[in-house]
Amino acid sequence: MLINVSTLLLEPVGHARRYAVEREAVAVPEAAFVQEISGSVRLIRSERGVLVTAEFELLPVSVPCGRCLEMFETPVSVEFDEEYVFDLDPLTGKRVEVDVDEFRIDNQRHLDLSEAVRQYEESALPIQPLCRSDCRGLCPHCGSNLNDGPCGCAAAAGDDRWSALARLQERLGTEDGDGAPEA
Ligand SMILES: [Zn+2]
Ligand SMILES: [Zn+2]
Repeated sequence: MLINVSTLLLEPVGHARRYAVEREAVAVPEAAFVQEISGSVRLIRSERGVLVTAEFELLPVSVPCGRCLEMFETPVSVEFDEEYVFDLDPLTGKRVEVDVDEFRIDNQRHLDLSEAVRQYEESALPIQPLCRSDCRGLCPHCGSNLNDGPCGCAAAAGDDRWSALARLQERLGTEDGDGAPEA
């Protein structure tokens, strides 16, 4: 998503603009990243370029469920403040020092939010996403997705190994106090 900041760059430090973003596409082809975003972005002319304050909702983001591994879509929001630096002084045309890891305004005086959105999305993703709060996960014995219904393993509960396991679970449950299967 490119924003033309050529006019803003000619304005005094502190001048600001706000844009509403409605289902715009951002893409970083090198990282195979494509995403649609909505939200708002505020641009403030800074000493070295433009300070971007962004708040976006990203939809849809597909992630694997931490329990059953099925892919599902989850809303993700990102917020960030980043300075985009222009390596030419717009008034004098002089070169300005820019670090390699800084976001830049290109020679056509566009700033591209795609890479920033990609980086912030990465850190905004849930650590253990769940397709639903009561996801039953995979059977640890046969690997069946238990959301699709019980697998054969439960029926084998008469088996000695399973009853030993059940007793162990019962004991852990009691010691745990609340009997919840997991935190
Ligand atoms: Zn799941
Ligand atoms: Zn099973």
